[in-house]
Amino acid sequence: MGRSEERGEAATTGRHALSWHTLEPTRFGSGWVSGLLGAICGVLGLGAVLCFRFPWLLTTPEARALYPLPLVRGLLHVVLVSGFLLGIVSLSLRRNKLLGAIGVIATMAAALLGGSQVPLEQEFESGPFLGLDWFLLNLIVYSAVFIPLERMFARIPQQPLFRSSWRTDFTYFFISAILVQATTILTLRPAMVLFDWARSPAIQATTAALPSVVQFVLLVAVTDFTQYWVHRAFHAVPLLWRFHAVHHSADQMDWLAGSRLHLVDIAVTRGLTYVPIYVLGFADGPLMAYLVLVSAQATFIHANVRFEFGWWRWVLATPQFHHWHHAAEPEAVDKNFAVHLPILDVLFGTAYLPRRWPSAYGLLGGEHAPRGYLRQFVWPFRRPWRVQ
Ligand SMILES: [Zn+2]
Ligand SMILES: [Zn+2]
Repeated sequence: MGRSEERGEAATTGRHALSWHTLEPTRFGSGWVSGLLGAICGVLGLGAVLCFRFPWLLTTPEARALYPLPLVRGLLHVVLVSGFLLGIVSLSLRRNKLLGAIGVIATMAAALLGGSQVPLEQEFESGPFLGLDWFLLNLIVYSAVFIPLERMFARIPQQPLFRSSWRTDFTYFFISAILVQATTILTLRPAMVLFDWARSPAIQATTAALPSVVQFVLLVAVTDFTQYWVHRAFHAVPLLWRFHAVHHSADQMDWLAGSRLHLVDIAVTRGLTYVPIYVLGFADGPLMAYLVLVSAQATFIHANVRFEFGWWRWVLATPQFHHWHHAAEPEAVDKNFAVHLPILDVLFGTAYLPRRWPSAYGLLGGEHAPRGYLRQFVWPFRRPWRVQ
């Protein structure tokens, strides 16, 4: 992956027929928008057909019963036809054929595997599964919201969608969704085993009896308080920092950069943040609302958008607030640990939110993580023993 990424970076002249990097225009009519939509439709269509073929392996058991199958098949048909046609449009308009080719080849592969009429395999076995359906749903929602948002309100307009290292971050996005079963177990099990003694029916009944809105606010406050201190420990303890440094190694910020989290970081942070949720026993409604907020806000605060939000930026964490957490400027080191509530950083003396934006992102001192998911996975185990 690393070598091909370097090769891609050299290909900025548009001479190359298949490259992620290009100097060709990306405005409407240049074949870029059709190519991007065609490629996304192709990947979604192919993924959906694979989910029909191998549901016991590739779909989330809790979600299976909820899919409206006739509607999904109808949409799949539209997505496959669109992916093919948009790919053809892009191939004819654009010298760089990569996006168009992905759209056409992926939809043809999906058609060969049965297309929208693919039979649904009904023989289910329970056991380990991969969340391909969860990945596709995330891809649909986040690309539909954030790609247009970042193009319209970019904080750094010249930063391309396919920036350097985007494939590494997309791999994180893909793997964290595909491994949804494993990460959920890693998150829930330790709390259930270690903190069962702390659960009291009286406390849980009291929590669940509170109005939903109060439960939701309490949930955000309690989990972000926990998350604040876990995050701060990840910065302060050298053994933990080597894992969290992976997240900070992104030197360009966008909605995808937030996915760059080492599995150890995910397991420890989510595992500990889940403890108060488990002990206090919140109702399902507020818990679902909280999970949606975490996912949406964690993505939004990394996005390449220029919104500043006035006084609201002290109420809920904003892109500017979290961009400063990622800034490669000495005065911003170990600041802004909260994911939701900046007041926590104000209370504990770690808030830093000037009116300007950071001049650079990444690790201080010019240190760079290796490229690629696997290299970054082993990086914390191989780094020399020193504090940043
Ligand atoms: Zn951090
Ligand atoms: Zn971050």
